[in-house]
Amino acid sequence: MKITILSLFPMMIEPFFKSSIMRRAVEKGIVSYRIIDFREFADDAYNRVDDIPYGGGAGMVLMPQPLSKALESVSARGKRVVYPTPSGRLFDQKKAYELAAEEELVFICGHYEGLDQRIIDEYVDDEISIGDYVLTSGETATLVIIDAVFRLIDGVIAKDSLEEESFSSCLLEYPQYTRPARYCSSCVPDVLLSGHHAHITEWRDDQRLARTMHVRPDLLSGASLSPRMRRKLIKVIEEKRTEDLENGHYQGN
Ligand code: SAM
Repeated sequence: MKITILSLFPMMIEPFFKSSIMRRAVEKGIVSYRIIDFREFADDAYNRVDDIPYGGGAGMVLMPQPLSKALESVSARGKRVVYPTPSGRLFDQKKAYELAAEEELVFICGHYEGLDQRIIDEYVDDEISIGDYVLTSGETATLVIIDAVFRLIDGVIAKDSLEEESFSSCLLEYPQYTRPARYCSSCVPDVLLSGHHAHITEWRDDQRLARTMHVRPDLLSGASLSPRMRRKLIKVIEEKRTEDLENGHYQGN
């Protein structure tokens, strides 16, 4: 996959491509990247890329001309252009898989109050928010999206690691343990030391279900559950209803 990033702060991005799993993906030729400092496309002698908003209001807006020239310089038309912004659609694993299927992605890192709307209208395919909060700049949001996307490309990470991860089937992951079996006064659950694969799988399924129910019950409606897990889920829901009834919290349904 080719990744192009338009940024005013390339030094925030460069280290990511030179570290850890991304560095290996770049070395193997699975990912290639270029970072374009769009200040270099500024029109005036002061290299200005932002101006006050029409209609008044706080902050500055990124001007259309430098961004447009930068986008044309990388032939962005016809490529998938992503603008991370708090007013975009919420990013999730499904979107990560969708972007991972692209040959090439172009990211625009916003700043200040964001981009002139005409750049969004003209070039942007996906406006993506990484969460309901506001960051100072688009570089960190861009890296979050790239990180979630590139690890799904064939050859970056072992396939079985991806299959059991959180969100892979709308369930969160089970708890993980490694050696030593006893750490301080805390022990690894016996089942994981038993060598009994069927029991380990059942325990992990139960943990995934319990954790998802507790932390992210909203995910369960899309979860693909085995018949055993479905029975377990119904049982837990019934137990919870009974408990709520006993505590006077019953709300219907
Ligand atoms: N005025 C904008 C608003 O209220 O929606 C906020 C602009 S923010 C200070 C500057 C830049 O950071 C944005 O243009 C965007 O690129 C990035 N950014 C901030 N929060 C983000 C989020 N939750 N998701 C994705 N990008 C974000």
